[in-house]
Amino acid sequence: MAVALLVAAGSGERLGAGRPKAFVVLSGRPMIEWSLDALRSAGVEDVVVALPPGEQAPPGCAGVAGGATRSESVRAALAAAPPGDVVVHDAARPLVTPEHFSATLAALAGADCAIAAAPVTDTVKETGEDRLVTATLDRSRLWAIQTPQAFRRAALERALDVGDELLARATDDAWLVERAGGTVRVVESTPANLKVTTPHDLRIAEYLLADRLPRPSAP
Ligand code: C5P
Repeated sequence: MAVALLVAAGSGERLGAGRPKAFVVLSGRPMIEWSLDALRSAGVEDVVVALPPGEQAPPGCAGVAGGATRSESVRAALAAAPPGDVVVHDAARPLVTPEHFSATLAALAGADCAIAAAPVTDTVKETGEDRLVTATLDRSRLWAIQTPQAFRRAALERALDVGDELLARATDDAWLVERAGGTVRVVESTPANLKVTTPHDLRIAEYLLADRLPRPSAP
């Protein structure tokens, strides 16, 4: 079975909750625990968490100190992970489901890397610094990339074997595989697997998670 790297070392400044985002209480429990539940339901037992200063790994998980950037956190967690293919997930996406993990891992059969992504529904334009539009992209070919991202172990190790400056530019790890010549396949997801960044996102996540809370038993 694959091992999971759960990156949770971000400060969450844009959320403004006064503690690191992954440990903010969301629908009654620290945000990170929603992702852990989904991982366990998908049968992934080995989990390494990249932690911010002052936080402990949840029970049953190994913990490592996170890095200065997201990909440095991934690299630190990978160094502590037992052998096997790897699935990387942002603790900031608490709406992830067990199927996201199983589908991305299954798609590794034909690629070095398989990533959850939602079809883009907005029209996307490119501008210059003056905000004048330079291009309108073909929406039918565009995907909004999420996590989980599953990797063949060797492909991720090779991709992360680069300088810190390049790591800092990576907004996802799949890009590092792409630039190393690896194959990356998209696995269709939905916009509900949102990343919590702002207080607005937190409210939407709370609303969507309400469906997963145990119902109060009838008197
Ligand atoms: O900042 P952003 O929301 O894009 O971060 C995505 C994920 O990466 C979050 O789960 C965050 O905790 C994690 N992260 C990390 N180490 C960093 C920066 C972000 O583990 N240095």
